[in-house]
Amino acid sequence: MNDLYYVLDASAFINGFEPRSQFNYTVSEITDEVKDLKSKILLDQAIEDGKIIIKEPEEKFVLELNEFISKSGDDLRLSEADKKLLALALDLLNEENANIKVLTDDYSMQNVLKILDIPYDSIITEGIKGVYNWVKTCEGCKKEFDADYPFDDCEVCGSKVFKRRIKTY
Ligand SMILES: [Zn+2]
Repeated sequence: MNDLYYVLDASAFINGFEPRSQFNYTVSEITDEVKDLKSKILLDQAIEDGKIIIKEPEEKFVLELNEFISKSGDDLRLSEADKKLLALALDLLNEENANIKVLTDDYSMQNVLKILDIPYDSIITEGIKGVYNWVKTCEGCKKEFDADYPFDDCEVCGSKVFKRRIKTY
């Protein structure tokens, strides 16, 4: 078994994450979200000691992530920092072939992680109970289409197609 790499959201630092592994990663935008002075001092110290590693995800993983979340409908609910952190998780999984776990309390991020099949844990909450996804449904014949169905009307009956969220499991 490989070492466990932690990918850390700002909530991890705000809630006093104690590094348990030597591989603890985040992105610079996340450290900017830590405003509380005590958390900030602890974080800066951990970075200085090499316990937290700041890494920029490779561009191709940022692009891959953006494409994915625009399809899943999660792009509007994620901050730039969130997106970058998710791209970093993809980067570490693919480039380092690392055994990773993302620590975040953000439900939108957890939703994306669940769909991407990337292991995660929350710091203080139990986590979400299901995964939501966008579908398009015809208001006439009720046929369901994928979120990326490109038309506004149904290919079967010609009625209007609308977008809605469903719980997928
Ligand atoms: Zn229809």
